Amino acid sequence: MKKCPRIEVNLEKLKENTKTLVHLCSKENIRPAIVTKAFCGDERITRAIVEEGIDLIGDARTENLKNLAGFKEEKLLLRLPMMSEISHVIDYVDISLNSEIDTMKELSKEALRKNKVHKVVLMLDLGDLREGVLEEDIFFTVEEILKLKGIKLIGVGTNLTCFGAVIPDEINLGKLERYAKEIEKKFNIELSLISGGNSSSVYLIGQGRMPKRINNVRLGEAILLGNETAYGEKIENTHNDVFQLVAQIIELKEKPSVPIGEIGKDAFGNVPLFEDRGIRERAILGVGKQDIMLDSIYPIDENIIILGSSSDHLIVDVTDCPREYKIGDEIKFNMAYGTLLRSMTSKYVHKEYL
Ligand SMILES: *Cc1c(COP(=O)(O)O)cnc(C)c1O
Repeated sequence: MKKCPRIEVNLEKLKENTKTLVHLCSKENIRPAIVTKAFCGDERITRAIVEEGIDLIGDARTENLKNLAGFKEEKLLLRLPMMSEISHVIDYVDISLNSEIDTMKELSKEALRKNKVHKVVLMLDLGDLREGVLEEDIFFTVEEILKLKGIKLIGVGTNLTCFGAVIPDEINLGKLERYAKEIEKKFNIELSLISGGNSSSVYLIGQGRMPKRINNVRLGEAILLGNETAYGEKIENTHNDVFQLVAQIIELKEKPSVPIGEIGKDAFGNVPLFEDRGIRERAILGVGKQDIMLDSIYPIDENIIILGSSSDHLIVDVTDCPREYKIGDEIKFNMAYGTLLRSMTSKYVHKEYL
């Protein structure tokens, strides 16, 4: 019997998704980075993607980039460096996204100590209010960066649709382009990486509306799940079932649909609500909140109703399924980003490559 729970990764479909996005980007002269954090920098998956013509690997965690040190592609650190990881950043990262001059001073010192020049991209906050310097601080910060000998400013970037859910458009990304040009002129330097966001920027590329100077986007979800994330549309010529979760039935019984007794709080402190549908056939699967997020799994068998989960159990209603399930049967799910992230991170979920 195959191990459960497991994620089946269809590398062929993943390659097709990558091809589609690489092609889309190349038409607009954009060099995409693959963002590997959702699959923890898994080497087989990264390999399948870079083979399709991506030469920049981005991750939020230095651990994952360290794991990929054997790859010749340039490594980009997406999360602002922590003071406690400066040494690792210089060792395992070629380019880091930054917004704090104090951190960049430490990066510079450490790089000089190691006889390296570390590349930095200055992040600009154009409204999403996650990371980045505010507009009024841009030129001053650039001036400070240019004093540091161990780091080289190679570009500017922004991140949108993450904290504030701001959608990229010609106004905010137009600003990014304008600031890039102004920095080049004012300081007489050349910026080679103008990084215009994540999978939420894909729709702009598709419509040919990306400002011309923007030559990079950092793509996770678009390649992995085939979604553009500004409006949640599926991208043409992509698969949304590259990753599938397989879980096994460990209990199968007919039970009432409303618990018996006084209702308190569940294992996560919530008061559950139940609809009385009479006696139903329910299956318990050996996977839970430690491995999945309930709002982002979708049974392939559409007659299955998801009832709920605890840390280690997923409870589903199989009454309406034409198939006669039995103990030990496997049930398969497609997933959205939350479950992709959590299941790939869970050490209890096995990985199988198809
Ligand atoms: C996670 C992340 C990305 C990738 O986001 P997707 O929506 O998966 O494309 C890009 N840039 C930064 C800074 C990130 O943290």
